[in-house]
Amino acid sequence: MFLSDLHTHTWLSVDGSESVDALCEAALRQGLGAIAITDHWDGFLPGLRDKGYAPHFMDSRDFWKLHGAKLFPEISAARDKYAGRLRILYGVELGQPQFHPAETQEFLASYDFDFVLASQHLNGTCQDYYALDYTQIDPRALMQECFELELQVVRSGAADALAHIDQPVRLMKDIAFDISLNAYRDPIAEILREMAKRGTALEINTHGLRSWYHRVSPPEWVLPLFRDLGGELITTGSDAHRAADVGAGIREARELAGAYGLRAVSYFDRHTPIILE
Ligand SMILES: [Zn+2]
Ligand SMILES: [Zn+2]
Repeated sequence: MFLSDLHTHTWLSVDGSESVDALCEAALRQGLGAIAITDHWDGFLPGLRDKGYAPHFMDSRDFWKLHGAKLFPEISAARDKYAGRLRILYGVELGQPQFHPAETQEFLASYDFDFVLASQHLNGTCQDYYALDYTQIDPRALMQECFELELQVVRSGAADALAHIDQPVRLMKDIAFDISLNAYRDPIAEILREMAKRGTALEINTHGLRSWYHRVSPPEWVLPLFRDLGGELITTGSDAHRAADVGAGIREARELAGAYGLRAVSYFDRHTPIILE
């Protein structure tokens, strides 16, 4: 079975510090055939830019401007070093592309990416899901809004795959919230239908297996729904921010995709999904 971890972070992510080489070494140790380097680049609503929201994500763009050009040489060196053993994708985790269509376009055109993994990391007023006090908000309204924003992410057309469809769940450990997401079948189906139409892949993100909620994202019931709505492609990603997490849960995620008749993308070659058995 060809296993791929298509969601990992290096030093180029504000919340990461690993080298490309360290992630690739770990990928080989875990028996993977491919890894995608997907550092953060996050769009931000221009009107809110100066109001102090989400400095972490504003920084990601400035950080790319300063240091982005240093990543590809690392990838290139790793491709030479691991040639024939590991496929290494030059990717990005693109947050909120719909908030900034022009700047997003300009950014994507500046780098020769193989793979764009798109995400929603901010709520509708550009507050980072990680920065909210969940005891002070209505988590149901937040989740509903999150799915509306993710539909816009898919419609932006920038995504080869949609990442962690239920990101805020990570932060809901201490509140009463039904993480089965059964109450959100309709908005989730709307996202999946749009993805199926566009050929966008759905990520099975394994972060939750290492976290308090002990399941992949999305919850398992979403996979047959995606298939029934015409979806075909899955990507598997650990969301590793350190080498020790590369490949974590990937085999389980790959087997889940297979169990529901979905096809796991082995790697992307200039945005074209390639599937090896
Ligand atoms: Zn993310
Ligand atoms: Zn990530």
